[in-house]
Amino acid sequence: MSENKDQKFVYDFTEGNRDLKDLLGGKGANLAEMTNLGLPVPPGFTITTEACKVYLESGSAPAALRDEVSAHLAALESKMGKKLGQSDDPLLVSVRSGAKFSMPGMMDTVLNIGLSDESVVGLASQAGDERFAWDSYRRLIQMFGKTVLGVEGELFEDALDEAKAAKKVTVDTDLDAADLKKLVKVFKKIVAKEAGREFPQDAREQMDLAVEAVFNSWNTDRAKLYRRQERIPSDLGTAVNICSMVFGNLGPDSGTGVAFTRDPASGHAGVYGDYLQNAQGEDVVAGIRNTVPLADLEAIDKASYDQLMTIMTTLETHYKDLCDIEFTIERGQLWMLQTRVGKRTAGAAFRIATQLVDQGLIDEAEALQRVSGHQLAQLMFPRFDEGAKTTLLGRGIAASPGAAVGKAVFDSYTAVKWSRSGEKVILIRRETNPDDLDGMIASEGILTSRGGKTSHAAVVARGMGKTCVCGAEELDVDTKRRRMTVGDTVIEEGDVVSIDGSTGKVYLGEVPVVPSPVVEYFEGRMHAGADDADELVAAVHRIMAYADRVRRLRVRANADNAEDALRARRFGAQGIGLCRTEHMFLGERREMVERLILADTDDERDQALSALLPLQKKDFIELFEAMDGLPVTVRLLDPPLHEFLPDITELSVRVALAESRKDANENDLRLLQAVHKLHEQNPMLGLRGVRLGLVIPGLFAMQVRAIAEAAAERKNAKGDPRVEIMIPLVGTVQELEIVREEADAVIAEVEAATGTTLKLSIGTMIELPRAALTAAQIAEAAQFFSFGTNDLTQTVWGFSRDDVEASFFTAYLEKGIFGVSPFETIDKDGVGSLVRYAVEQGRATRPDLKLGVCGEHGGDPESVHFFHEVGLDYVSCSPFRIPVARLEAGRAAAEAKGSDSR
Ligand code: ADP
Ligand code: MG
Ligand code: MG
Repeated sequence: MSENKDQKFVYDFTEGNRDLKDLLGGKGANLAEMTNLGLPVPPGFTITTEACKVYLESGSAPAALRDEVSAHLAALESKMGKKLGQSDDPLLVSVRSGAKFSMPGMMDTVLNIGLSDESVVGLASQAGDERFAWDSYRRLIQMFGKTVLGVEGELFEDALDEAKAAKKVTVDTDLDAADLKKLVKVFKKIVAKEAGREFPQDAREQMDLAVEAVFNSWNTDRAKLYRRQERIPSDLGTAVNICSMVFGNLGPDSGTGVAFTRDPASGHAGVYGDYLQNAQGEDVVAGIRNTVPLADLEAIDKASYDQLMTIMTTLETHYKDLCDIEFTIERGQLWMLQTRVGKRTAGAAFRIATQLVDQGLIDEAEALQRVSGHQLAQLMFPRFDEGAKTTLLGRGIAASPGAAVGKAVFDSYTAVKWSRSGEKVILIRRETNPDDLDGMIASEGILTSRGGKTSHAAVVARGMGKTCVCGAEELDVDTKRRRMTVGDTVIEEGDVVSIDGSTGKVYLGEVPVVPSPVVEYFEGRMHAGADDADELVAAVHRIMAYADRVRRLRVRANADNAEDALRARRFGAQGIGLCRTEHMFLGERREMVERLILADTDDERDQALSALLPLQKKDFIELFEAMDGLPVTVRLLDPPLHEFLPDITELSVRVALAESRKDANENDLRLLQAVHKLHEQNPMLGLRGVRLGLVIPGLFAMQVRAIAEAAAERKNAKGDPRVEIMIPLVGTVQELEIVREEADAVIAEVEAATGTTLKLSIGTMIELPRAALTAAQIAEAAQFFSFGTNDLTQTVWGFSRDDVEASFFTAYLEKGIFGVSPFETIDKDGVGSLVRYAVEQGRATRPDLKLGVCGEHGGDPESVHFFHEVGLDYVSCSPFRIPVARLEAGRAAAEAKGSDSR
């Protein structure tokens, strides 16, 4: 970072505003905003993130900083009429960290800076309260010792406990001035011993050291880890706020509190918060004494309470959102110490957004930006019945949402065995590793006692859409003895547990699960206008309706049968973007596929194919009927053929046994030969997709015939089939041309035979890099492209998904190589560039080329925004994800519009 001469590194609270979060951090920007609103904020100033960046890059603060701080401090001192640390009447300040995004792991605030052996006496006489002065001083040494000098915090805690024990009292307020004076001595000794230096007596030195400590806290391990997990860039730096002290520990007419302008759980207006008399700073949330509900403040100090209520209304109207605040009352005078737009539950986000619209504070476009697809997805998981009686065992990290109930098992083998016999199981491990994959698949949910959001369990569970709670440290998991212990409770293998992947809570026994009302609504079983529809459903309905109105992207479903298609339609699907035909070759039909593969003569092969034809045709008729009037994209057979043949080992054993009994089965022998012949080292890159269509005569023709005949039948039944035939794994236009020629001929034949005009369109998947790179040529033969971003991600990265996700993705995420799996959110720089290129090239050849995506990314919020931006016509995703895609498509459109007019 080069220092620029006129750069300003310090801003008074009166100089900033809430839009300067990059420069002043969230806390500083909002302190400035409140100051300028005329609210009672103790005066102070903010050192910018730019100063921090210079410090982090060069190892020392910018040269100009010291003088700038001195100038601002002097101004503050003259405003307050006293000097920092002045012996007879000291100005005291707090030094507070504050980055753009609030980040746990950053430095704790140090209060009461400016106190020393001398000024503590001055403070006592000014306040007329010796106890208060010594209490403030011991707090300073404690906080400074711990956060600036790195002394183990427990040493202070222990000394405080000893002081209380010696006096036979339990709370800190029972210690008097003399006790606290003694405690200060002890604290100072601890500092000298542990930090190897005396507690600094010079006020400015205290302040400078604290500022430097804040700068350094940007790079603690905890902060780094948090940034990686939350994908916060590592070069933002933190601001430092210097704020003159106000005192909540001046007796019963003083205190400190926190509050929300409305309920962060329901969104309802009301008085939510906690208050603690005669306390300072974090006391209120630290649980050292019992707080009272904020409403009780009215009885304690009516004037301050009324003023606080007015201020909360001012803040809500100003920020047009739920705010949370920190305040302190010093001898009946109210001071505001912090505000920010408050965190809320997913349900509250929807409710609050619509409440604010009703209050006229925001419009619908803004309401849409206040919610997210991730929040909607959370609301769609089944959940535990809130009314149920539960026994909480512990709590871990909410790693993958959902509510899962099952019998505890402690190894994957048992998980698989029990689930095969119809039991529901929860796999409990200390942590999981790739060997646990089978067990994870077999389980309802996964529970671990170690590891965070990027642990193996978390990553793999999210990938599978399975409920997972990880890092529940209170649980002592003993896999050898197949049990876990929590306090006195022992959970043996087979005992039932319930885990909530949305809250991280772990319960003993079976907690009843209720379907999400939001899903009931999407399913059409609950109406948003009905009396029993809850407020949440009404809010979701309103926001979805708006999203649908403004979005440009259409949303289709990946669905293979009529049942899924109907559900997708209820969820708002505007067509099917991917119907996989492989299931039409499974079950009883496997035998016909075997015959097809083993066919020696054209005759045998034709027979096998004609046996399959009517069955497939029937499947298609049902599907087209379910999606009548909407487009249906049918993909011709994609997977390698050996997937339809018996397992190689099983078959080998069978043949060997038969041979030893001397009654070898001719068919089995031939099958085994075929299996060997079809065996591939890398089936993903082998004989599959369009390649099958080219080497197995008649296969694609049969599928096309089934589709065309089904469409003709629907037409003759006065239906409106709109079918698109999609060729998978095309790498070059020649492949597509050959398949197309054959398909066109079959369609023409069917049209002639049935007397219909079918208007079937034929297009291709773009899922190989070569296809994307030659999109201009491929578009000559394709009426549409559908980006198969799963395979495209595999082939662009050279990742075999099934192998890499379970084996080394955790390591990649932890090392920050990517912040999220490229299979979850599209890799814009790599895979995304190819998509963008293919869109441009394809449209250059054929301006009316229809463009969509059918990989799983079609239902991922961030990816949907990308697909909007590159100009696709639709996204296609699993039926359950459709509402999320609709919402995010709406947000993407509204966002783009907003930034145009801004
Ligand atoms: P955090 O980022 O953890 O919320 P804060 O900087 O807000 O840290 O401060 C921690 C506690 O100290 C909060 O309760 C805050 O209200 C209180 N506090 C901070 N500065 C002052 C001050 N100048 N006077 C009184 N209390 C303060
Ligand atoms: Mg705070
Ligand atoms: Mg594919």
